[in-house]
Amino acid sequence: MSRSFDVVVVGAGPAGYVAAIRAAQHGKTVACIDEWRNKDGKNAFGGTCLNAGCIPSKALLESSELFHRAQHEFKKHGIKTGDLELDLATMQKRRASIVRQLTGGIAGLFKANKIEGLVGHGKLLAGKQVEFTAVDGAVEVIEASNVILASGSSPIEIGIAPFDDAKIVDSWGALEFDGVPKRLGVVGAGVIGLELGSVWSRLGAKVTILEAMEDFLFMADRDVAKVAAKEFKLQGIDIKLGAKVSGAKAGKTGVAVSYDDKDGAQSIEVDKLVVAVGRKPHTDNLFSEDAGIQLDERGFIVVDDECRTRVKGVYAVGDCVRGPMLAHKGSEEGVMAADIIAGEIAEVNYNVIPSVIYTAPEIAWVGKTEAEVKNSGRAYKTGSFPFAASGRAKAMEQTSGMAKIISSQDDDEILGVHIVGPMAGELIAEAVLALEFSASTEDIQRTIHAHPSLAEALHEASLAVDNKALNFPNKR
Ligand code: FAD
Ligand code: NAD
Repeated sequence: MSRSFDVVVVGAGPAGYVAAIRAAQHGKTVACIDEWRNKDGKNAFGGTCLNAGCIPSKALLESSELFHRAQHEFKKHGIKTGDLELDLATMQKRRASIVRQLTGGIAGLFKANKIEGLVGHGKLLAGKQVEFTAVDGAVEVIEASNVILASGSSPIEIGIAPFDDAKIVDSWGALEFDGVPKRLGVVGAGVIGLELGSVWSRLGAKVTILEAMEDFLFMADRDVAKVAAKEFKLQGIDIKLGAKVSGAKAGKTGVAVSYDDKDGAQSIEVDKLVVAVGRKPHTDNLFSEDAGIQLDERGFIVVDDECRTRVKGVYAVGDCVRGPMLAHKGSEEGVMAADIIAGEIAEVNYNVIPSVIYTAPEIAWVGKTEAEVKNSGRAYKTGSFPFAASGRAKAMEQTSGMAKIISSQDDDEILGVHIVGPMAGELIAEAVLALEFSASTEDIQRTIHAHPSLAEALHEASLAVDNKALNFPNKR
């Protein structure tokens, strides 16, 4: 007799494993199938985020930032270090150990929540049956009352620069370099290009990023993008905009990369090339043709606002469905799907999803950019405050950047918050809460912020919206 579960989740990334835990919290019997295999050949739960994305990249960003600050900032604090030496092997061991601890933690959470963690491939068949192929090849058909597909995404490969896992690599390969490349090329100045470009630049690589678009960080507020571009330039990261890569050829000495820009055909030679031009939904062999699942023209599983597919009782969440490819967006969708399965009313507020780029300075925003508000035709006001005027930022020796708030002119509702500066990724949480509660600028103005704190920058920016900033001259 085949096994049956109330909920079978395919994929144990941040969308899938969180969905499984929430379903178990509702008292459902749950199985979660995942086939992720690390480069050491070992399987692990956690998906891209824990194994090859958010977590290992942040581990290396932290280590490389410390190295950079020790080299360039400690002197200003009156700390003499003598000659600093990079021990990349230890840095990489630390990264791998953090990943191991966290992925092992998911296995522990599955056990604690009585979730059956199944290692292998899952495939949805007609009638909500799921074919599970274990790593030893054994095939089992599992019956499910509900199925949640959370199969994630994979890097986009471009024909003109195919991955060779040695010199031309994807983001995962770029997290696992065992030496610092002297010259690193990156295709794409998106989130991955900037984060991983920063890591290797701080560790000593000469980094050149080729970006096809003319606008830098086109999805961010223009004021933030301007500050960020200046900072990356100061850090020695060469970002070439309007650079359309036409070819990449790996040879003995490195990779010859050709591209076209407004001045015509150009070329550079680098030791390693990271291609980070976006990710695509991963749905290979995920469902049979008669399962009833529909893909859109870009390959995403078609779902409604509540992540229901066209098949009753089958949901899809995370990177494999529309919306930003972010771990926290996927997790919230996983929670929503599990809550709905349990008969609860649940929703994800897609208008209030924070974005964070973990460079130095960090870049974070929530809500609309000024250009988006302008284009909407709604009358608005803005206020900003530079970290250069923040006592805490000065004490930290991290004064680049600013916080900016955009509010509606008529009812003062906060429409967007944009921060570039120290700990922007943490500071944005206050703004997310404000937008979630439809707060007004006045609400932040009247909220007491501890002194001295970086959060005061947001407070001052809210005051600046009404020309009431106290620690910086207001626009008149
Ligand atoms: P995934 O994490 O991709 O997990 C899907 C899982 O399903 C995988 O384990 C896969 O093996 C498994 N799977 C797929 N198909 C099957 C099948 N048929 N059978 C069994 N198993 C299957 N996002 C952030 O929010 N913050 C960050 O700081 C951040 N940093 C990133 C850094 C990098 C370098 C990268 C590449 C991504 C980063 N992201 C970040 C994006 C984030 O990793 C993804 O948005 C997130 O992992 C998506 O979660 P998911 O659960 O939908 O998919
Ligand atoms: P991205 O969409 O952020 O950026 C890709 C960039 O490559 C774009 O600027 C695009 O214009 C450029 N590009 C595309 N084709 C090109 C070409 N042929 N030549 C030159 N440039 C080209 O994608 P990504 O950086 O690969 O990241 C993938 C996903 O992972 C993103 O959706 C992101 O949300 C997620 N991610 C998030 C974080 C975070 O939240 N901190 C970190 C890393 C990744």
